[in-house]
Amino acid sequence: MKNTKIVTTIGPASESKDVLRALANAGMNVVRLNFSHGKHDWHREIINRVREVSLELGQPIGILADLQGPRIRIGNDTELRITEGQSVRVSDISRKDTLSASDTPTILLDIASISDALEPGHLLLIEDGTIRLSVTGREQDFALATALTDGLIKPRKGINLPDSKLDLPILCDKDRKDLSFVLKEGVDFVGLSFVGSATDIESAREAMRAELPEGMRLPEIVSKIERKEAIRNIDEIIKATDAIMVARGDLGIEMPESEVTLLQKDIIRRSLMSVKPVIVATQMMKSMTEQPIPTRAEVSDVTNAVVDHADAVMLSEESAMGKYPVETVAMMREIITKTEESPFDDVYGTLDLNIHSEYATLIRSVYELAKSFEAKAILLLSVSGFTARLASHFRPDTGILAATNDRRTYDRLALAWGVRPYLFEGDQKLDTFVDRMVDQAKEDGSLSVGDQTVVFLGRVPGERDMMRLVGIREIR
Ligand code: ATP
Ligand code: MG
Ligand code: MG
Repeated sequence: MKNTKIVTTIGPASESKDVLRALANAGMNVVRLNFSHGKHDWHREIINRVREVSLELGQPIGILADLQGPRIRIGNDTELRITEGQSVRVSDISRKDTLSASDTPTILLDIASISDALEPGHLLLIEDGTIRLSVTGREQDFALATALTDGLIKPRKGINLPDSKLDLPILCDKDRKDLSFVLKEGVDFVGLSFVGSATDIESAREAMRAELPEGMRLPEIVSKIERKEAIRNIDEIIKATDAIMVARGDLGIEMPESEVTLLQKDIIRRSLMSVKPVIVATQMMKSMTEQPIPTRAEVSDVTNAVVDHADAVMLSEESAMGKYPVETVAMMREIITKTEESPFDDVYGTLDLNIHSEYATLIRSVYELAKSFEAKAILLLSVSGFTARLASHFRPDTGILAATNDRRTYDRLALAWGVRPYLFEGDQKLDTFVDRMVDQAKEDGSLSVGDQTVVFLGRVPGERDMMRLVGIREIR
């Protein structure tokens, strides 16, 4: 079993049930559906297929619905050619019909009043930063900017404003419709694009709570770190979110590309300390979209993320529209496994935990016990998934086998580093779960006779102040 999990974006290249099954067998743990693409009927069909494959194979597959979020686009109807040094006006569609006539060409942004946020010195980055402008001044209805590059500005292209204070709602109309849909479908994770602050996360969580019946568990929020603003507010974001994605595509536009790998390391470290799962995303195996083998730089990139001890690495176009989706996942698994087995993976030292509680300390002792007895695995019960994630925080050399009676926990733990979840539905006694998990683990090869394990049962049902650490148990 590998510890680092694989998130796979599904698209035309991977939508069939046969390919989904092959992906799961090759090492896929979580499916990502990008709501920037595809109709609801398509997404529903994929969700159904993934659930069927998960049942068939007896392994959890998490589902991450990634919302498009407030992406700003060019609102001009026609192309506009600019040359370096040229002055332009920058306004937005709400002023389209009232702007004074001028010889100076005008770039329109497609969100009302958004150009109010432009102040002198702010950068405008169009089409992944290939066309750049700098704001030089302001008038009532527009900003003035100078082109820093030549370029052909095309309608609908994306634009980043890394320096501007944007008060865009984190969910636009399309996102709200998509959110209603995914809540009905019961996905495990919702991805929030372009998060800037903790408030964004709170408002998305509020929107979900308003739609779901009281008492229903919300999907977990995966905050995508892809704006300069998010880097500024990284600690409050990690505190407010359930999980993190280092979305290196837009991040590399808003921040110097040379810093992205270092930011990745910093974000992983902070997430680990707060027990929040963290995914490394974008272009990890990009060349495998077209070629059957990766570049050495890509292999290095995956190795590096594994050594950083991220919970998961992610594929985008490689698996959504590439020629070799299954081969890419298999290659990723090979790199992960070899790295995890190598001594170079062990330079990692356990990070301090941001959570100071009796419970966290107890789990630390479970980890220490497993380490000093060179146990094969930690066996635990985890109803909500938190106990398993706490154990995962320590990134132990031992496996973590987690029994749960909640299907949602089972699927969500598919994203947790080193955790192998087992599901026991129905109303049997929690105490019997460990025995049944050992039986299953012997069958699937996770445990063998003679292995040492550490058993942790957690809170005793009905007895609030009692916790049970069963201690060392040899598998018979
Ligand atoms: P994001 O900024 O959210 O990553 P993206 O457009 O880069 O958006 P990815 O999810 O990274 O999208 O996927 C890469 C490419 O794969 C997309 O640009 C698109 O061409 C294709 N793709 C992804 N999902 C689908 C889908 N459901 N249907 C069709 N094509 C898809
Ligand atoms: Mg993106
Ligand atoms: Mg992408």
